[in-house]
Amino acid sequence: MKVRKVKKSSTEFINKEFEVSSQLKRFNQKNDIFSRAIWDETINPKKFFLSYDIANYAPKKSKGFDHWDYAFRNASWHLTDVVGERDFESRGAVEGFTDYYTIQTEASPSKVEITSIEDTTHRIKLAAKMFGAGMVGICNIDKRWVYSHNFDRKTQEAKPFDLPKGMKHAIMIIVPMDYELSKTYPAALSGAATGIGYSTGLNCANTMAQFIINLGYNAIASLNDTALNIPMAIEAGLGEYGRHGLLINQKFGPNIRIAKVFTDLPLLADKPVEFGVKKFCNVCERCSKSCPVKAIPFGDPQTSPPNFSSQTGIKKWTVNAEKCFRFWVGMNTDCAICIRVCPYNKDFSKWWHRVGIKFANSPFRKLVLKTDDVWKFGERVLTSKWWQKGIRNQ
Ligand code: SF4
Ligand code: SF4
Repeated sequence: MKVRKVKKSSTEFINKEFEVSSQLKRFNQKNDIFSRAIWDETINPKKFFLSYDIANYAPKKSKGFDHWDYAFRNASWHLTDVVGERDFESRGAVEGFTDYYTIQTEASPSKVEITSIEDTTHRIKLAAKMFGAGMVGICNIDKRWVYSHNFDRKTQEAKPFDLPKGMKHAIMIIVPMDYELSKTYPAALSGAATGIGYSTGLNCANTMAQFIINLGYNAIASLNDTALNIPMAIEAGLGEYGRHGLLINQKFGPNIRIAKVFTDLPLLADKPVEFGVKKFCNVCERCSKSCPVKAIPFGDPQTSPPNFSSQTGIKKWTVNAEKCFRFWVGMNTDCAICIRVCPYNKDFSKWWHRVGIKFANSPFRKLVLKTDDVWKFGERVLTSKWWQKGIRNQ
């Protein structure tokens, strides 16, 4: 795949690409669909959150939703839950989702000597890869993506929020999800791909933050809390925006989770990249057609979002979060059919997929789509088949 770094600055690129207007306001996390599930009666989560506790699992007869599947999915979330909810009773925080992590130990009393920003950046990226990142990029912090308020799930209050002073950069971490598991979406079993993604992100971001703190600088580990991951990952050169509202990474496609570390350590920021996603999405629309509740838009990007759970003042394809989340609630697990069917969701360790995706960024893009259909890529794999064959090379 030919990946081109853009020449403009990240801010110029985002402003032009998404026609960002002066109407753009920082997002209040209270309006996030998961926060709304707590305070907004029109979003009735029923037993959705309870099902993530094995004591409350909702067994069904259907394959993919039985005791084995819920036990497996909930175990994949276990560390994220236990670490993230340590302070729930005292401050209503779910670290990693409503608040950043506060598990780091004391800083080094002296700062490491920095002789070269290039070398520092290289070491930081190397460490992130060693701690589990599939890819890593760096962006300058653009305040527009930092939440204006974070949400206390206990008191249901939105508290004005800002990052501590001095934070200049975000280290954006791509965590690939398991490709074979992602082929089984939607099912409780498939939700383990999401859970494992977050647990790996938690480990990588917190370990990275501690590494930087050990060097004498400040660092904050974060998953979905604190700031919008997708625009920041785009600024950090980690992919393009897809019609399904997700980041499409040049190495792992949309089958990823994103974690991040804010820091004041001097680093070199990356540039956004282009490899033809927008043009491909213009002719594809497979995610829109496959979404069971038609939550993904057809046609061109729009400026007005479908409801207040998305930012205004930016022109983009925006998923209807209300429709999407209600579907999750109905199933008692998350859905990622849009990831499963996306032609960019391929195992790019295989040369033939790498060749195929080259054509996605060429006038032959419609042929790529046809080939995908003929070979039935994106079709759901039975969860029973995954349980039999999930482990490769054994
Ligand atoms: S997660 Fe499922 S319901 Fe939500 S937009 Fe994607 S396909 Fe539609
Ligand atoms: S399924 Fe097609 S339209 Fe949707 S994000 Fe992927 S490439 Fe774009």
